[in-house]
Amino acid sequence: MTQRRQNRPPHSPSPRAADRGRVRFDRPEFGRLLGGLAAQGYQVIGPTVRDGALVYASVTSPDELPVGWTDEQTGGSYCLKRRNDAALFGYTLGPQAWKPYLHPPTVRLWRARAGHRELDRLPEPAADPPKYAFLGVRACELQAIAIQDKVFLGGDFVDPWYRRRREGVFLVAVHCGQAGGTCFCASLNTGPKATFGFDLALTEVIEAGRHYFVAESGTDRGAAVLRDLSTQPATPAELAAADRIVADAAAHMGRELDTRGLKELLTRNYEHPRWDDVAGRCLTCANCTMVCPTCFCTTVEEVTDLTGEHAQRWRKWDSCFTTEFSFIHGGSVRASPRSRYRQWLTHKLATWYDQFGTAGCVGCGRCIAWCPVGIDLTEEVRAIRRSDGVTLAQQLTA
Ligand code: SF4
Ligand code: SF4
Repeated sequence: MTQRRQNRPPHSPSPRAADRGRVRFDRPEFGRLLGGLAAQGYQVIGPTVRDGALVYASVTSPDELPVGWTDEQTGGSYCLKRRNDAALFGYTLGPQAWKPYLHPPTVRLWRARAGHRELDRLPEPAADPPKYAFLGVRACELQAIAIQDKVFLGGDFVDPWYRRRREGVFLVAVHCGQAGGTCFCASLNTGPKATFGFDLALTEVIEAGRHYFVAESGTDRGAAVLRDLSTQPATPAELAAADRIVADAAAHMGRELDTRGLKELLTRNYEHPRWDDVAGRCLTCANCTMVCPTCFCTTVEEVTDLTGEHAQRWRKWDSCFTTEFSFIHGGSVRASPRSRYRQWLTHKLATWYDQFGTAGCVGCGRCIAWCPVGIDLTEEVRAIRRSDGVTLAQQLTA
């Protein structure tokens, strides 16, 4: 079984062979796609430009998308640049995953008043989230959502907040037309082409003075949305253009990760001196975990007001890079940056397989671009692999 199949959650929309025929619609039709989703009660969330970055936010018109913008990313660096065309999806990824919409950074679990035995019911918005349509979901992000589905919905204990938000989300995937400088989804077989988990999948094509989308549906509701648009069967030339664009993105990944025996490699190198090397650079700022689309850890905090009459319990995103995260009586289990970085990387690329059957990384590269000192997990793994099996004494004298 391939990793791609392992990642498919049991309730994920399954592609219908009959709906896999690809059609074409032209750029002016895009507004009708947004309008059609809105008419069905969806709040459309898509990429927008804000504060010099691409941010997922509510969109009601194609003009609010990052028209003519692209991004450049490398270790510790991200910037937007103008393209020489009017592409709607001519970028790779912004810092923000879809995670905040499905697994919000803060959730109030309950509140209570002194002297009252009954707890208040769960408050809004957790109890009644919007009906979302996500627009422009990349293949690696679909994989990340599938991983979080497994975490929050797949075990004995289902997370009710996640479930309420996840149920009914309409997913419009856009196959990547370019790879970022920090992307390595091709190494993990998680992109750049979306292969499952979407309602609609689009390839944006701009060539020979034409601007159009090649579209396919993955579910009945995706097919219904497509039927409301003015479409034509895609010609062989249009299909070839769409496939070429995605193949080009796959061939130009900015990073690469050798996944052969990865879990075993990291497991037998817990004492490798590279952990000290990376600890000397890591600020333990937790940025990498905040931007990562698969990281899911939380903490719970209780607060009272000044009167002492009211108390609330909140769930908040947490990070294995903080000392508090592993604090038990007597102190933190992972007191050193070395142990915290090692925990994060070995969880992502080794012990995650034991827990969930896949890697905890989809190769989006966000942790590389948004690390303030440019630490690159692909380079850290490469360094460990280079000296795998070399004794410590040999490494110190090399
Ligand atoms: S690896 Fe980079 S982003 Fe992550 S905690 Fe260390 S310094 Fe921060
Ligand atoms: S570990 Fe880094 S590259 Fe992998 S999914 Fe998380 S942010 Fe993306």
